[in-house]
Amino acid sequence: MLETIRGVILRETAIGDYDKIMTVLTAEHGRISVYAKGAKRLKSPIFTATQLFSYSEMTIAKSNETYYLRVGELIESFYRLRETLEGAALASYVADVAADIAVEGQPCTDLCRLVLNTFHAIAMQKKPVALIKGVFELRISAIAGFVPNLVACGGCGSSDSDVLYFDVSGGIFYCEECYRQSAALAEALASRRCENEGIYPTGQLISILSSSVFAAMRYAVYSRAERIFSFELKDEALADFARVAEHYLVCHLERSYATLEFYHAVAS
Ligand SMILES: [Zn+2]
Repeated sequence: MLETIRGVILRETAIGDYDKIMTVLTAEHGRISVYAKGAKRLKSPIFTATQLFSYSEMTIAKSNETYYLRVGELIESFYRLRETLEGAALASYVADVAADIAVEGQPCTDLCRLVLNTFHAIAMQKKPVALIKGVFELRISAIAGFVPNLVACGGCGSSDSDVLYFDVSGGIFYCEECYRQSAALAEALASRRCENEGIYPTGQLISILSSSVFAAMRYAVYSRAERIFSFELKDEALADFARVAEHYLVCHLERSYATLEFYHAVAS
């Protein structure tokens, strides 16, 4: 039975000289493998629709648990994301994490939209790559089920403080006063070997953030999907934002990515 879907190509593996198997992210079916016969031939009618990172409309047929591509039409190639090594490296990392958290057969509209928006932002080259990466990392962590609580201090519920203490593994933040109190309490508990010490911040990864970095994190997590990159951060604040976003993703998804290491090797 034939079916027409729209999907973004996250990975490709060459099969022989002319064919490839693609990992495709679709809103309807989550992550699927699609066999594209003859896709590597330059004259193939599916050549452009099957390029890595492309968003394409595909008519597919399922047979023995594998999807076969019958017709493919390119919607968006995002070709400019390859213009810088940094952009291309980030796209590879984005594709890697998305393929990792997408589940076969499980619809993933939000994830699809995030990947397309992120590829679009990289290709446009109007925002710093570090900002795009940080937004993606926070947002995809939230989609994967790890939504940080950035609304109010985990201790007193207040939401205004100049400096904030973000507990990366707990996904919660503290105002200055609560952090100092809980840190002191944790120290006291640790000296008594209390079993409950884990609920206090000491010993956990705490990121000390300015209110502008914190506002950016809130924006990345809570704003509407089409607006996620619409803010500015520069210099030290951008570096802090990028660092905490990456720590948050790595801490919660609990794995490392070779594409992330490659990104750091080439990022300026
Ligand atoms: Zn507080």
